[in-house]
Amino acid sequence: MTLTPKPGVLDITPYVAGRAGLAGVEHVVKLSSNESPLGPSPLAVEALLKAAHDLELYPEGSAQILREAIGDVYGLDPARIVVSGDGSDAILTMLANGYLRPGDEVLYSEHDFILYKIATLANSATPVEIPDPKLRFDVDAALARVTPKTRMVFIANPNNPTGSYISHEEMRRLHAGLSPDTMLVIDSAYSEYVRKNDYEAGIEMVSRYPNVVMTRTFSKIHGLAGMRIGWTYAPASVCDVLNRIRGPFNVSMMQQYAGAAAIRDRAHVERSVAHNEQWKTYLTDEIRKLGLTVNESVANFVLIQFPSPSSSGAVGQKNSEKSSAKADAFLGSKGLILRGVAGYGLPDALRLTIGSAEANERVVAALREFMGR
Ligand SMILES: *Cc1c(COP(=O)(O)O)cnc(C)c1O
Repeated sequence: MTLTPKPGVLDITPYVAGRAGLAGVEHVVKLSSNESPLGPSPLAVEALLKAAHDLELYPEGSAQILREAIGDVYGLDPARIVVSGDGSDAILTMLANGYLRPGDEVLYSEHDFILYKIATLANSATPVEIPDPKLRFDVDAALARVTPKTRMVFIANPNNPTGSYISHEEMRRLHAGLSPDTMLVIDSAYSEYVRKNDYEAGIEMVSRYPNVVMTRTFSKIHGLAGMRIGWTYAPASVCDVLNRIRGPFNVSMMQQYAGAAAIRDRAHVERSVAHNEQWKTYLTDEIRKLGLTVNESVANFVLIQFPSPSSSGAVGQKNSEKSSAKADAFLGSKGLILRGVAGYGLPDALRLTIGSAEANERVVAALREFMGR
């Protein structure tokens, strides 16, 4: 007889990360995990190396220097910030661990970050997927699925993998339809990239409402995916829960110093945003010219939809050759790794991270060749 995990755990499909290499292909460019082509701030790397001198000592347990740096940059009370040394993924998981019971219902969009489903099932709670045929979080469809059992709503804003977002106004409308004992978790992993006047990353929402939590990461704009640092700005009662259940030394000294230096380097962040804006526009325009559908994205990636045999009708016979799977294989043969998103319910699409100038130009040239243009 084998040991039996909690109900739901064995319904989890293990997370599949974006590929990092291709057998037999040289000069590989990884555009599969939304990492920053600019890398981290040199100041963060310097701080990391300095912090590596006292490895025999336990780190300060509350990540104080990092919470203070975040608080300075965003004007937040450091007491309302909790940091994770295993990315914002671990914060999302801790929120689910701290608040979900068997039978609770958890809402999230059909094409959204897979971790929400994993964290829900791991706590024997019930996932309720919100249809999003327009590849955009649908507030009305979400509110139509709220029941007395709804305990948590996850929303990635901007969304991964679609690149879409909802406005502050829509977020407030969503919140207004939830009961005070339902937690609204706003996952703002890509918020630094957004350049829209009607967008709000979540700080305003958390400051105003006692049941809203915002999560952030150092993995994307700060170019520190390998360091695994995430944080949350949350109501005091939620910080209290997280501080009880997190590991007592869950953020290493290297993470604390590197993170603090990274977030204080605003010039580096601005360079990343400017690079992203320029090349996202280039990629969107150039790939659309090839006859492919590219979602309007506010993040550091674009979703490319390919014509495939399953999307019959409007798509001509000759295009049925141009499937996402064939494109993925063709790009791979050129050393370009994109992210297949079939696991996100989007078998016709590939997600492309905005890369370096050279990488972006290589992708467009390869897609042009693939489409026979
Ligand atoms: C990348 C990403 C994260 C960040 O994960 P980390 O664990 O902090 O690296 C969180 N949410 C979404 C939607 C993401 O795409």
